[in-house]
Amino acid sequence: MTTLKIFNPANGEHIVDVPTDDAASIAVKVAQARAAQPRWAATPMAERKACMVRFRALLAERIGSLARTLTSEMGKPVKQAKNEINGLLGRIDYFLEKVDSATATETVMNDGGTTERIGHDPLGVIANISAWNYPYFVGGNVFVPALLTGNAVVYKPSEFATLTGWHITRLLHEAGIPEDVFVPVIGGGEVGAALLAQKLDGVFFTGSYATGAKIATIIGPRMIRMQLELGGKDPIYVCEDADVKVAAESLADGAMYNSGQSCCSVERIYVHERIYEAFITAFEATVRSFKVGDPLDEATYIGAITRAPQLAILEAQVADAVAKGARLLVGGKRISQAGNWFEPTMLVDANHSMELMREESFGPVIGIQKVSGDEEAVALMNDTRYGLTAGVFTRDAKRATALLAQVNAGSVYWNCCDRVSPRLPWSGFGDSGIGVTLSTYGIQTFTRPKAWHLRQP
Ligand code: NAD
Repeated sequence: MTTLKIFNPANGEHIVDVPTDDAASIAVKVAQARAAQPRWAATPMAERKACMVRFRALLAERIGSLARTLTSEMGKPVKQAKNEINGLLGRIDYFLEKVDSATATETVMNDGGTTERIGHDPLGVIANISAWNYPYFVGGNVFVPALLTGNAVVYKPSEFATLTGWHITRLLHEAGIPEDVFVPVIGGGEVGAALLAQKLDGVFFTGSYATGAKIATIIGPRMIRMQLELGGKDPIYVCEDADVKVAAESLADGAMYNSGQSCCSVERIYVHERIYEAFITAFEATVRSFKVGDPLDEATYIGAITRAPQLAILEAQVADAVAKGARLLVGGKRISQAGNWFEPTMLVDANHSMELMREESFGPVIGIQKVSGDEEAVALMNDTRYGLTAGVFTRDAKRATALLAQVNAGSVYWNCCDRVSPRLPWSGFGDSGIGVTLSTYGIQTFTRPKAWHLRQP
């Protein structure tokens, strides 16, 4: 039997080996899910919701141990792990509140004996292939509405968040979701690929552009629902009228929270030349105040880097930026201790010839560039193949609206950043992916609309 070795990225220690799935076991699991799905779809919505209410209660009850597990396998500071689980509770509440109205059958015409109705049928059996950086969020955005709307879910947690995936599975089953309706498959990329070889009715993926592009090639010709939530190179523009200290503190947090390993982390900052030096001073002070250390310590703000190969990418981005003229003000190198560690890193006088400003860093590294005004800032914000989030800091609401209207991103922020709301659609432009989660769109996406044309005899 093949096993997956799970290590603690904060100290390099081996935690446990878990058995992985293979093509044969995945085929059995998908067949079981397919057999079970019609029964689940026929279960009254009130019963499906009651299971999710119980799941929510179990998460809340066991938050301490769940958070410690997440921290031990991916290095996220434990306080941020708790924030994530608490955040999922709010998302579940939103889905529970909206699922009935978002999927209610709607009569759109009733005239002369003819009725037209829109119905919402579940997709069937869907694959939920998840990333490790926010396993509760990116998994929950899929499996919560998918289960509520009557789908069976075959769930592949990331190989870097497998123990959390097991906890999620156990709690869903304990809450009453049948074991053949929510089915985990365990392993790395090859297990994800084997899952895609099965007959599925939808694929919901969160991860890198490189993997998303491979999945698109495989799934595209099969004409099933496919959503790919991929990376970002999320820009922020700080205008000359912004409150420099407030902006610097907010953006340093947006860049370094979860050790910078968020798809919507602030990845590049453009600052108006009139406040450039003041902003840099305030930003540097904030970064230097961040406590780096044991992720299990409640006071820690920056933890370990989850995947060891990312350290070389961060080093290469720093070296490339410095070689091309950036000034390294803070950090810039690995921290030499057991596990995967990188110093919080701040580079200024950056420009778009540098990888730092073009490709996802996915670590506690930020590039800051001086701009002459709004036109240059918008051009630079849009000079990217990604389009996940973008933001502006200014006191002027009209100016912010005008700027954000020109930016190609799925989410835009005024005087805030690195923010996701269950009430708003989460989606990306360009290489940030296709499809939508969250909001009522993110409920309906797990259904197919059916057009009913009904004529009385
Ligand atoms: P990844 O692409 O390496 O892996 C994602 C998942 O895909 C894992 O479960 C992995 O096992 C699986 N996988 C790998 N190869 C596969 C294949 N050939 N077929 C099927 N499945 C395969 O990404 P990651 O390192 O887990 O996640 C980091 C990336 O995710 C970053 O780019 C980040 O920006 C992005 N992300 C995006 C969002 C969003 O909402 N847009 C949210 C979180 C993370």
